Amino acid sequence: MNPTHDCGRRIEALSDYLDSGTSPDAEHIDYCPQCQAQLAGLRSLSAAALLMMDDDVASATADDTGWLDGIMANLRLESRAGRTIPLRGGELDELSETEGAVIALVRTVGDSLGGVLIGRCQLEGDVSVPGEPVEVKINVSARYGHPLPELAQTLRDAVFAELLVETELNVTAVHVAFTDIRPPVIGNGSGESGKGRS
Ligand SMILES: [Zn+2]
Repeated sequence: MNPTHDCGRRIEALSDYLDSGTSPDAEHIDYCPQCQAQLAGLRSLSAAALLMMDDDVASATADDTGWLDGIMANLRLESRAGRTIPLRGGELDELSETEGAVIALVRTVGDSLGGVLIGRCQLEGDVSVPGEPVEVKINVSARYGHPLPELAQTLRDAVFAELLVETELNVTAVHVAFTDIRPPVIGNGSGESGKGRS
């Protein structure tokens, strides 16, 4: 498969597949890396959205949910396989991974931390050349009440560690920008910090 090829499946169709578990297009979706990446993104989004609705249902306004629209808009773009990243390794030196897979990895790291939701994520630098310096730029939506400098540092450390283990990229910097602060929890006081995340 051509890594820069966009298979053209609409995110709405994937969302339906996620909801219903069936699709006339299942044969493609199950084996398409791009569709799988989008499904993974949708899954973490719906988990986050459910958590929000749980907390914010009484206070939600159009302004409050704008950040979600932005994330949805970026998801499709980022789920493309993107550039191919070569991997070293003996006779298997034709191994490679894709930019989209690395971005999906960063997203997973964000999901594993409470209080943050990864928006746009970009790899800057020539990822197709082994050893070239690469900078990771992440836009983050945070829940009000989490101390941002701490959150940024935790996220940076986690992304560095994960990419070091899972990729051969020479990551020289992880930039974290907070683009949205989601409103504080109003109501019964059962903040998300009290909820277990597995
Ligand atoms: Zn596809």
